[in-house]
Amino acid sequence: MRTNNMDNIKTIDTLSLNIPDTTKPRVVIIGGGFGGVNVAKKLQCKDFQIVMFDRQNYHGFWPLLYQVATAGLEPDAIAEPLRKMFGGDKYEDFHFRLVKVTGINPATKTVQTVIGELAYDYLIIATGTKSNYFGNEQVKKNAFPLKQIPHALNLRSQLLQCFEQASMTKDPVLRQSLLNFVIVGGGPTGVETAGALAEMRKHILPTDYPDVDFSKMNIYLIEGMDRVLPPMSQEASAKALKYLQELNIIVKLNALVETYDGYLATIKGGEQIPTQTLVWAAGVQGALIDGLPAASIERGRILVNHYNQVLGFNNIFAIGDIAFMKTEKWPKGHPGVAQPAIQQGKLLAKNLKRLIAGQELEPFEYFDKGSLAIIGRNKAVADLSKKVHLGGFLAWVIWLFVHIMYLIGFRNKVVVLSNWIYKFFTYENSTRLIIRPFIRKGDVAKRRFIDKYETE
Ligand SMILES: Cc1cc2nc3c(=O)[nH]c(=O)nc-3n(C[C@H](O)[C@H](O)[C@H](O)COP(=O)(O)OP(=O)(O)OC[C@H]3O[C@@H](n4cnc5c(N)ncnc54)[C@H](O)[C@@H]3O)c2cc1C
Repeated sequence: MRTNNMDNIKTIDTLSLNIPDTTKPRVVIIGGGFGGVNVAKKLQCKDFQIVMFDRQNYHGFWPLLYQVATAGLEPDAIAEPLRKMFGGDKYEDFHFRLVKVTGINPATKTVQTVIGELAYDYLIIATGTKSNYFGNEQVKKNAFPLKQIPHALNLRSQLLQCFEQASMTKDPVLRQSLLNFVIVGGGPTGVETAGALAEMRKHILPTDYPDVDFSKMNIYLIEGMDRVLPPMSQEASAKALKYLQELNIIVKLNALVETYDGYLATIKGGEQIPTQTLVWAAGVQGALIDGLPAASIERGRILVNHYNQVLGFNNIFAIGDIAFMKTEKWPKGHPGVAQPAIQQGKLLAKNLKRLIAGQELEPFEYFDKGSLAIIGRNKAVADLSKKVHLGGFLAWVIWLFVHIMYLIGFRNKVVVLSNWIYKFFTYENSTRLIIRPFIRKGDVAKRRFIDKYETE
């Protein structure tokens, strides 16, 4: 086929969102995470046209992201393509578009994306969170975040590259900086990443790298508060600390990382740790979309009423991590975990159906199913209620069961379960591959190292 204007195939200017016109109310959902997916599933398409925008084409199961970063699972085991989830007859009038949303305009009832804009009747913002560096640009530039699959793959490559390089140097200072790993943030992500790394150090790395003395590998976990797992009970925190110390993880409490230039981390008070790998799991902030008035936003999240309606609007809703719903029981909003997003998504679908039927809306009541964190093999903690706190093997089994149960997609459940069973008996994790080498922007020395083994 010939085209007269070859420029058209070199640009995205001729792309459009291409959503069919409809006489049904159009619901636009921004974000295919826990909140977005659950509202779309429950809403189905009988009475609505549903349009979902996400900047990635999959739904990610973030609780297992640290296992991708520490070479325990491949990324496709913890993600499900959104088109696969919503394909088929059941979701007939569902339309997914892989685009980043750049803004909304409540006055014109439109959503702006990098490809164009679309009018909505109801808008659901379910964009979750992004890393919060608390204004520290140097740390932002040099640290490894752990919020998305590309982040986990970067970290996996970095860990393996550090071990490879450590096996090739006799310089003790360089070697130590390659073997020091600093994880900032003692919440579940930090604790679980530190634990997984410690298990690798114990069971895998000495066999893979016989030239490296792994008694010199240090894993630091730095937490600003006076205990690890601050959102969990005191009992869970104390047990987790004990398990971390049993795994020879150096836990520093009441400690704040002030600077990190890619090679040296400085903790407030002056202590310095030479390290080429600093993982940032210390905080998140709402992934806000431009266009809402300042009055609808507090502490970087969107203020909503008990029906998840954004303050000041009756056709714009926010759910999940991005939503800030103050209730008597949760005056600081709900915890930033998957359950509030799932439960709000399901209730919002029900409420949208009620809304178009002219019925009264049901207020959201969070059902807290408890919290879990895994530290290592047979070592986990669970707060099942205010009074029931478990630790050790039983909590570990509950953790495994809950994560398999909530993982989306039958294939993913089978892959993850079989991986874990294999790992349990062999101590092996099979994905220690550097597929895409990681080089920090502007790191000339690393570029030279990669160039030495990469071929055309
Ligand atoms: C590493 C990690 C570990 C975690 N561990 C646990 C755990 O063990 N247990 C637990 O309960 N919770 C855990 N959480 C928290 C849990 O994942 C979140 O609470 C949950 O994902 C919130 O759901 P959500 O729908 O609000 O946001 P998300 O699930 O984050 O979904 C947001 C979606 O919006 C999309 N998006 C964002 N901005 C835009 C834009 N501008 N345009 C288009 N798309 C956009 C994103 O691509 C994403 O798909 C963890 C989170 C992380 C990152």
